[in-house]
Amino acid sequence: MMMSALSKYIFYPAWDLKDGSERLVKWRQLEKQQWWSQDDLRRLQLNRMKTLLSYAEEHSPYYREIFKQHGLKASGIRALTDIERIPVTTKQDIRNGGDQFISDQFEKQALVSAKTGGSTGVSLNLYFDGTCQEKRNAAQLMADRWSGWDLGMKRASVWGNPPVPESVKQKLRHNLLDRTIYLDTMDLNNQSMSSFVARWRKEKPGAVFGHAHSIYIFAKYLLQESITDLRPQGIVATSMMLLDHERATIEKAFDCHVTNRYGCEEVGLIACECEQHRGMHINVPHVYLEFLDANDNPVAPGDPGKIVVTDLNNFAMPLIRYRVEDVGVYSDRVCECGRGFPLLEKLEGRVADFLRLPGGGQVAGISLVERTLTKVPGIEQMQLIQEQLDEVTINRVKDSDYTEETDIDLVEAMREVFGESVDLSINDVKDIPQEASGKYRFSICRVTE
Ligand SMILES: [Zn+2]
Repeated sequence: MMMSALSKYIFYPAWDLKDGSERLVKWRQLEKQQWWSQDDLRRLQLNRMKTLLSYAEEHSPYYREIFKQHGLKASGIRALTDIERIPVTTKQDIRNGGDQFISDQFEKQALVSAKTGGSTGVSLNLYFDGTCQEKRNAAQLMADRWSGWDLGMKRASVWGNPPVPESVKQKLRHNLLDRTIYLDTMDLNNQSMSSFVARWRKEKPGAVFGHAHSIYIFAKYLLQESITDLRPQGIVATSMMLLDHERATIEKAFDCHVTNRYGCEEVGLIACECEQHRGMHINVPHVYLEFLDANDNPVAPGDPGKIVVTDLNNFAMPLIRYRVEDVGVYSDRVCECGRGFPLLEKLEGRVADFLRLPGGGQVAGISLVERTLTKVPGIEQMQLIQEQLDEVTINRVKDSDYTEETDIDLVEAMREVFGESVDLSINDVKDIPQEASGKYRFSICRVTE
């Protein structure tokens, strides 16, 4: 407790001072802005949008060209909806455009760089300026606190490839600030989970962070071993794919609510649940979101739309109307917590995770998997792979309730959705492997036409 307080009030500010970091300043700003009215937040967004567009028009060769091609002027943007005249930027555009996106005011070598995973088939090189990085970290801090974690508390991280502190400075930073214990999700087994439990008991972390499905596997282990003394203040699931039954299991094992969070490497934190756990508040000071239909027209609240994001923080590599390839539903409901950040009601998965129906429709793979798992007993985990329009492979892991009836019921549940014409085959697998990013994909559509 003493160490927590010291860390919160002394080490954090001291470290930020030493690194010349603006993170805490930006964070204090966000702490106030989250309670602003929706009107004030829209005004803030519009001002930031205008600044970003003028900057991109002048300094990003890619957007200068796009503006010219479409006869647009940043100065002509008077309302947020005016940006609908700017074409959507795709992952492929970023790949093709490369350094053309980067501002002529920055040296590429001096920027923070990141590479996205290739789970959607396109891997990208991204660059951020230092201030952008600070703002993203600040948003992370704000959202971490929504979960029940607070500055100075230790953290438990259920993650692939945990970082190993190397230099003295890193070790110092690790001990004073990060104070994180890791469970490596690339190697989850009873042995590794049991030693993680031992370290947890010693270190007593205030919150656990990780991909939803990995936390779920750990939660199931705790229930199975009747371990009931791991009691964090918060649980943050950072992968968008938080299934209802996984949430329920995690909450039971830790006796604590799960805080679902949505973000990506390209733009940082997009949205996060507050303590109400009813939808995710959109990080509007930092990102402007749109939800679009197949023709890139805006959808109504309550209707699923392809998420398009404008990053209001990144001047080094502006991303305007960038399509993240995820589908979500926004809401005009006001949250009971009183925060002015509008709500992202739910995520329906990646665009590539939608399976195609023979009749021409589409079904969100995540919903289908969810529905099947609740309906059909005997399945621990499953993944649907659609190779062709009329060919779906079901990878499934049996659980202890498995009987001969299970697969009959499984096929029947699938037939209700896909009809009789689709060829279904069941693969008996020991587990569903995670992607290199540590995320799990519940459905994959490989139909191209
Ligand atoms: Zn709320």
